[in-house]
Amino acid sequence: MSDKKNWIVGAQRTGSTAEKSNTDRTQAHVKESESHFRAMADASPVLIWTIDAHGSPTYYNKTFFDFIGVTKTEDISDWEKIVHPDDLDSTMKTLSMAISERHPYSLECRLLRADGTWRWVLAQGNPILGANNEFLGFVGSSVDITERREAEARIKESEKKFEAAILAVEGIIWTNNAVGEMVGEQPGWAKLTGQSFEEYQGFKWSSAVHPDDAQPTVDAWNKAVRDKSTFVFEHRLKTQHNGWRLFSVKAVPALDEKGIIKQWVGVHTDITEQREAAKKIRESESYFRSLTEKLTYRTALLEAHNQASVDGILLVDAKGKIISFNQRFTEIWNMPQPIVDAKDDEAALSFAMAQLVNPQLFIDKVKYLYEHPTETSLDELEFKDGKIVERNGYPVIGEDGSYYAWSWTFKDITKQKSYEKAIIESEQRFRILAETLPQLIWMTNEKGIYEYASSHWINYSGLDPYAKDTWQKLIHPQDLKALRQGWENSLQTGKTYHSEARLKNKKGVYNWHLVQGEPIKNEKGTIIKWIGAFTDIENLKEEQKQKNDFLSMASHELRTPVTTIKAYSQIIERILAEKDDVQTLGMVKKMSKQVNSLNTLITDLLDITRMQTGGLIRNESVFNLDDLVKEVIDDFQTTSVTHQIIDNLDADISISGDKNKLGQVLNNLLSNATKYSPAADRIIIDTKVVNDGVQLSVQDFGIGISMEGQQRVFEQFYRVTGENQATFQGMGIGLYICAEIIKKEGGNIWVDSIKGEGSVFYVWLPTD
Ligand code: ADP
Repeated sequence: MSDKKNWIVGAQRTGSTAEKSNTDRTQAHVKESESHFRAMADASPVLIWTIDAHGSPTYYNKTFFDFIGVTKTEDISDWEKIVHPDDLDSTMKTLSMAISERHPYSLECRLLRADGTWRWVLAQGNPILGANNEFLGFVGSSVDITERREAEARIKESEKKFEAAILAVEGIIWTNNAVGEMVGEQPGWAKLTGQSFEEYQGFKWSSAVHPDDAQPTVDAWNKAVRDKSTFVFEHRLKTQHNGWRLFSVKAVPALDEKGIIKQWVGVHTDITEQREAAKKIRESESYFRSLTEKLTYRTALLEAHNQASVDGILLVDAKGKIISFNQRFTEIWNMPQPIVDAKDDEAALSFAMAQLVNPQLFIDKVKYLYEHPTETSLDELEFKDGKIVERNGYPVIGEDGSYYAWSWTFKDITKQKSYEKAIIESEQRFRILAETLPQLIWMTNEKGIYEYASSHWINYSGLDPYAKDTWQKLIHPQDLKALRQGWENSLQTGKTYHSEARLKNKKGVYNWHLVQGEPIKNEKGTIIKWIGAFTDIENLKEEQKQKNDFLSMASHELRTPVTTIKAYSQIIERILAEKDDVQTLGMVKKMSKQVNSLNTLITDLLDITRMQTGGLIRNESVFNLDDLVKEVIDDFQTTSVTHQIIDNLDADISISGDKNKLGQVLNNLLSNATKYSPAADRIIIDTKVVNDGVQLSVQDFGIGISMEGQQRVFEQFYRVTGENQATFQGMGIGLYICAEIIKKEGGNIWVDSIKGEGSVFYVWLPTD
């Protein structure tokens, strides 16, 4: 077989001459049948050939010659020329195998066609056996299968593409029959769901779908089947390894030529992550949106707040560039509009500097602070126009410690400064005054705790005014109680405090002082401070004592002759009455009246001297206040005809005290009320029960008393001076005696008066 050239032989069989005679008839038959065969073979579209037992060709049909494009057998015999080099070996191998085994064979190889193209042919050979079953060779046919091969190649290619596509879609591919049943092996599905072959057959695959998604899946599926449309859906599947996962499903119906669904090819794609990612994005988007909204809101608030601020606000970045400022800032700095609009840092800075008394200090501080962002600053800027602005600067430091900006605030404190200055000045004035005056000047808080004492005060007492028990150490123990009471009265009435007390000097000697305290009130009228003065009245007191001594002596000396005169005048009155000498009796009666007045005066004077020497005796008894008042009024009305006394008595209770002396007080008040209201015709007396006591008041509608007078009427010998004062007779001792009596009774006496309208004298007595 190595001699390939010998394979191809003529179309005629060769035979020996010896057999010729015997086989002539037979030969004639054969010839006939051969010519039939040839005619048939030549007409066939198939290449037909025969080879002998050695593989050498013995016949080619015409179609074969036409195919190769030759006319002679020799031109075909060189197979190397007509068989594709790549197919030569395999072709030879198959052929020689077939010859040795004498079996039918089949092979595919490429032959060079007359037009120069390689054509695939399918060659099939069948062994030819002789009468004695001897092997004669092969008869074969070759068919051009190029088109088929190409189609096959295309199919293979498309399959490859399909596989690649499957791999690429990352999904699970499955097929269902026309109604949606899973039939046969579904390896992808089984792997995904973990369902066994049995478990997914038919419609059972649906048990892998989430129960909540099952019905919607079925509904959508039925619709797709009905419409023969692509099934697109999303549902949850229980996966073998990852539990419930969300899948997108897409299934396409494969239709036959008649448009009937043959099967469904579907893909499940896991979109859990994708969905979660999308959800996260959505969430983060909405979070971001809400954050932005919040931020916008906060920014708006901040902006509104900044604008509403009474302070100027300026925000600059780390390099000193203006970020923002409020309206007030531009007002404080009188910033011209162009600079404001342009937010021009340079221009703003130089404009600011031009307005200041000390621009260098200003700019140095700014520079220093920008270089030292951990520091804050508070300073005052003095403007050339006299304005004073408080500047507050602090860095805006981020959480990471890096510093972003400087925040400056500017507060116009010009007014505040001028107030401060005025306060300091007035304080200074007060100090100078307090230090210059010969009096001991002091200032306490509303509770009497010292806040200031002049150096005279300190020099006199040698005490620490701010110590706790200053008052006790300073005031004579006997005067302390009265002082405190008077003080409390002033607290109640809010009036200037007046009294006298002995103050101990640093040598331990007590000197009489006039105590005056002026309450300082706030705008609500509440007392917040006391400013007072102690005036040394020691000499005055001495003089007063001498006067008293003289008075005491004189009244004593006067008393005896006056009493004698009174006794004699009474005797003379009686004698004259008997003699019926009416004219002389009238004169003596007038004399007696004057003697009585004189007697009262002497009694008063004696009372005073007794009071000052502590010799006034108190006769205590229990009596009804209203009864006493009625008695005094009745008595008084018998002599006074000018005024009607109207009483509103509402203190029908028992009190204990010196009834006579209290009657004397009331009498005195009524006398004054009548005396100092010559144009009026009524006096009102009130009594009522008040806190811990009774209160009595005598009101007149007379000349009234000035503010200063009100504070002093209870002083000994004090008489209000004024134009008409001389027309009122008196010595200025009545109210002094009243005050002393009431003091002894543990009560209080004070006056309320409006000049020209009248006065009300009040007496308060304790009931306990
Ligand atoms: P006198 O003897 O002067 O009346 P008093 O001690 O009774 O002495 O009164 C002292 C001063 O108080 C009087 O001089 C008078 O100026 C004034 N005074 C007292 N009561 C009244 C009153 N009801 N109306 C006006 N002034 C009064």
